[in-house]
Amino acid sequence: MIRGSTRIVGIFGDKIDYTLSPRMHNHAFAKLGMDYVYIPFQVRPDQLKGAVEAIRSLNLAGVNVTIPHKQAVLPFLDQISPIAKKIGAVNTIINNDGKLLGDNTDAPGFLESLKEDGRIDPKKKRVLLIGAGGTARAMAISLAAAGISKLVIANRTADKAKELSVWVDKLGAKLECYPVKLSADSLKEELSDSDLLVNATPSGSDFMPSDFHRFLSPNFFVFDAVYAKNTSLVAAAKSAGVPALGGMGMLIRQGALSFSLWTGKKPPVELMREALETQ
Ligand code: NAP
Repeated sequence: MIRGSTRIVGIFGDKIDYTLSPRMHNHAFAKLGMDYVYIPFQVRPDQLKGAVEAIRSLNLAGVNVTIPHKQAVLPFLDQISPIAKKIGAVNTIINNDGKLLGDNTDAPGFLESLKEDGRIDPKKKRVLLIGAGGTARAMAISLAAAGISKLVIANRTADKAKELSVWVDKLGAKLECYPVKLSADSLKEELSDSDLLVNATPSGSDFMPSDFHRFLSPNFFVFDAVYAKNTSLVAAAKSAGVPALGGMGMLIRQGALSFSLWTGKKPPVELMREALETQ
């Protein structure tokens, strides 16, 4: 029931028809009896500044920010949290009485989902990261903080992999980091010297060599940020007997952390999971 007192939160993105966030948040608000509603807002890149201004003028409690606005939104905010500043990307805006704070819950959401799954601890692991966009950046910083020993960044556009690896070097973490151009050949070489493959692209499993399982070390693990129920990468890994985790847990964790930033309540992880399981 929407009333005059209902607080509004939502998501700003360009193509947001696919988003599962309204389902997760509205389910949690309803189950907790909270007077909030979560709404998807389609925001074109040339309208982003006005949309952010509307958070103040319409007195929204906050919003999530998704593709393609996570980096572009930074100049329009009053404050940026240390983690979002380091990553250079915001996925959550909190409206503190007209002062807009940008934060990033993708990075902790990723690590929390790996921890919750429990099959791999990134500490001292050699990681092959596919992608060099905003999510790859958030994952790189989380992995560096979790104490990995090596990070290879493989990206379709080689220059972006290079830029990200220079940025990782500047973090000052003790790890070996270098870029490669994404190709079946480069992956064959890198897979045999890795423990964890992390996909931060929307490209399914097209980049994987068809016989990838032949190159893997024992105890290899695959994480796919894509949050479809059974992604093609997770399915390919599982059918080759390789343990794999999709991005649904990360989606739930990042959403629950945003919810908590807006409302001050404990992150409603189980309610958000319930919302997605009953879809
Ligand atoms: P982004 O900033 O636009 O970056 C996209 C990355 O994917 C770039 O590295 C790009 O390479 C690469 N890419 C795109 N299409 C490709 C293709 N066909 N083949 C190879 N590489 C391709 O996007 P993002 O925000 O990082 O998001 C990446 C993915 O993570 C999306 O699928 C998103 O849904 C997912 N995600 C999941 C969660 C979660 O909670 N589970 C949270 C955030 C994001 P180029 O540099 O060559 O263009």
